[in-house]
Amino acid sequence: MEKLRMVHLDFIAGMPRMEYLGSVVERLHKCGANSLLIEYEDKFPFQKHTQIVHEDAFSREELASFLHHVDSLGIKTVPLFQCLGHASYVLKHDAYKELREERASDWQYCPLHGDTFGFLNDCLEEIVEFHPNSEYVHIGCDETWNLCKCQDCQKYSPAVSYAEWVNRIHREIKKRWNKKTIIWGDMMVPCTCDHPTYPQIADILDKDIIIAYWDYWNSRLFPFLDFYKEKGFRVICSSLAAHPFRHSFQSQIQNITGFIEASLKYDNVIGNLVTCWGDIAPLWETVMFEFGVGLQKMVHNEKPLSELERDALNAICRYPRKELIEAFYMLSLPGKGDAPWKLYLARKAGSLFDNLNVTGDPAIRIIHFFTRIMEYKAEIINNECQHALPGEANDKRLNKIKDEIMSQGNELLGCFLRGNTLGSDEYFGKYLQ
Ligand SMILES: [Zn+2]
Repeated sequence: MEKLRMVHLDFIAGMPRMEYLGSVVERLHKCGANSLLIEYEDKFPFQKHTQIVHEDAFSREELASFLHHVDSLGIKTVPLFQCLGHASYVLKHDAYKELREERASDWQYCPLHGDTFGFLNDCLEEIVEFHPNSEYVHIGCDETWNLCKCQDCQKYSPAVSYAEWVNRIHREIKKRWNKKTIIWGDMMVPCTCDHPTYPQIADILDKDIIIAYWDYWNSRLFPFLDFYKEKGFRVICSSLAAHPFRHSFQSQIQNITGFIEASLKYDNVIGNLVTCWGDIAPLWETVMFEFGVGLQKMVHNEKPLSELERDALNAICRYPRKELIEAFYMLSLPGKGDAPWKLYLARKAGSLFDNLNVTGDPAIRIIHFFTRIMEYKAEIINNECQHALPGEANDKRLNKIKDEIMSQGNELLGCFLRGNTLGSDEYFGKYLQ
């Protein structure tokens, strides 16, 4: 069976324009993708539970047309619908507060609440209807750190509560739609953070559940490949394309290519996935390069990295120059809210632009100019932060400058990278004079 060569399209943080989305999947296809993991969150056009639908969500027509396009390219889809944690987009609404595991937290469902299973089934039914040809359904279930907090759930151990819940949904998916279930595997392996995890889960889970093993930091050793194999699971190896605390392509590319390489030694690995999380990611367009390198590695493991990068750039990137894309990547990384960080990125991006011949392309010239403005402003904020006196007025002033940097950056980069012709002439005009 052909292995999955998959990337993650995550709509948590926002919706791209439909024509842009179309070009994204065409380029991913050109680079070797044979499947997409699609995480809708509140951007799916639910009909039964309309309260959770975001105003920017796909319309039913848009989604049908997008999925038809994907299908016509021969790309399979795997919908991702969170069935335990990561549920804030549902549980923040008053109408669904009842389903919370903890009164004070909108993070996680209570699996024993009488309405949780029915609610999730309603949603799954609508999602599966849109994905009739999908072989798999990914039900998330990662980072479910609020297990057994309510009175009813406290009668069980976290491992039993988790595993039996996942089994129940998995069996329903199998029975109703004859599809295979995928979950993230982190609740059964030791975590690098302080949260407890439960290896016993692996012994209770049905063995035909597929484990998406995510590891976003390592580049050579992926310690739980052996664990999952010994426990009898099939695995999808999941790396990360962009991380807000890492400010160069290099570290993520090592994670992506290293995981693919390591996976080859395991016959229970059914595919590789490169993820990118909408809430912590820079602009999609800049992440395309890393998606591309990952996909090329999945197709041509034998090629040296320089060739993979070259081929990815040519196949996938609108602006086939790595320095340029990396500079955009840094400029569009979500801020951690502190000036030194922003200043560092603006300087680094600026120095990458210095190495390019920017005079030939007006758009790049503007971005270069803009980078310098960002750097200048970030320097001011940095200075102010170091010598700031406490006080609301001062905070307000600093935040205003910060917001200005962020909004101008997003707008300009958005116009440029998404090829938004509506905005570009008018907007660039201000900077060209
Ligand atoms: Zn509960």
